[in-house]
Amino acid sequence: MSDVRDVIILGAGCAGWTAAIYSARADLKPLLFTGNELGGQLAMTTDVENYPGFPEGILGPELMDRFEQQARRFGTEVKVEQVTEVDFSGQPLVVKTRQEEYRAKAVIVCTGSSPRRLDIPGEAELWGHGVSACATCDGAFFRGEEIVVIGGGDSAAEESTFLTKFAKKVYLVHRRNELRASKIMADRVLSNDKIEVVWDSVVTDCVGSKEGGLSAVRLKNVTTGEESELAVTGYFLAIGHDPNTTLFRDQLDLDDKGYVVTDRFQRTSVAGVFAGGDVQDHVWQQAITASGTGCAAALAAEKYLESLAGHVYPDARSEALE
Ligand code: NAP
Repeated sequence: MSDVRDVIILGAGCAGWTAAIYSARADLKPLLFTGNELGGQLAMTTDVENYPGFPEGILGPELMDRFEQQARRFGTEVKVEQVTEVDFSGQPLVVKTRQEEYRAKAVIVCTGSSPRRLDIPGEAELWGHGVSACATCDGAFFRGEEIVVIGGGDSAAEESTFLTKFAKKVYLVHRRNELRASKIMADRVLSNDKIEVVWDSVVTDCVGSKEGGLSAVRLKNVTTGEESELAVTGYFLAIGHDPNTTLFRDQLDLDDKGYVVTDRFQRTSVAGVFAGGDVQDHVWQQAITASGTGCAAALAAEKYLESLAGHVYPDARSEALE
């Protein structure tokens, strides 16, 4: 079993890189597959002002680059490849790419989640140029401006309320005539003078250019069919996230929203498979919480490998992991 690695990590966002830093420093020589989204969701954002240790803020891609450098410094092997299949039915665990098959005693799943998009014209082109799915990350760029938020759930309510700290006016576009958000959150929206709810409507186009940014959105009223245009410089999607768990559907227990189920030691339903970050968290979804659970997953994987090797560690943490 000489080709069986100790740890394979799937994903290159906050959780994956943090798991790699911890596993590499534990001398487990982790192999990390980046997948297609190198840097995870932070790679898609601009200034990160809430990651501790960077009082002036840091650009999301730069922060991810630093995570990567730190993981590589301690010996993480990185493959910029997409994993196409996994087989967690027995030991060793198997991870396949189009080119090759890899085997490991432990796998840490950090494949994150992706914000749902509307996939309307202009949306992808203007991503990062007025189009965003993260009010916390990008809201401060829209001070004194008029913006639109799409959605009617708690996220949309929370984000539109949060965005009124910066924006002069927030249009909340919802496809129905009733918010899905909890009453308390919906009341906050409806009583906020800076928010105008555009009921029964969908956005059909994002208008603008990469150079000049977003300048307007086109709307359609779904009951009357009436079309209109709204001059806005910001477009925030808040229609939910989907965890990137397609690979694990028949392999790991997922909850009813498709997130990987983990216990408080980041263990999944399969021995030796751990998960951290947004792929197993539909509540917090912050860079720092993803790093935290990525770290915990790596530490738990280390304890698991020690237990496979027959070591007995009579400390509270390993006992708790029994
Ligand atoms: P959600 O509850 O699934 O709501 C998604 C919203 O987006 C719905 O209003 C939905 O419209 C709309 N939507 C979905 N697809 C759409 C599309 N293609 N076009 C237009 N609109 C679309 O998602 P969420 O708001 O992200 O919340 C997810 C979970 O996190 C929920 O359980 C929520 O309670 C929780 N959460 C809690 C808090 C909090 O308590 N502070 C904050 C955020 C999220 P319809 O209503 O017509 O389906």
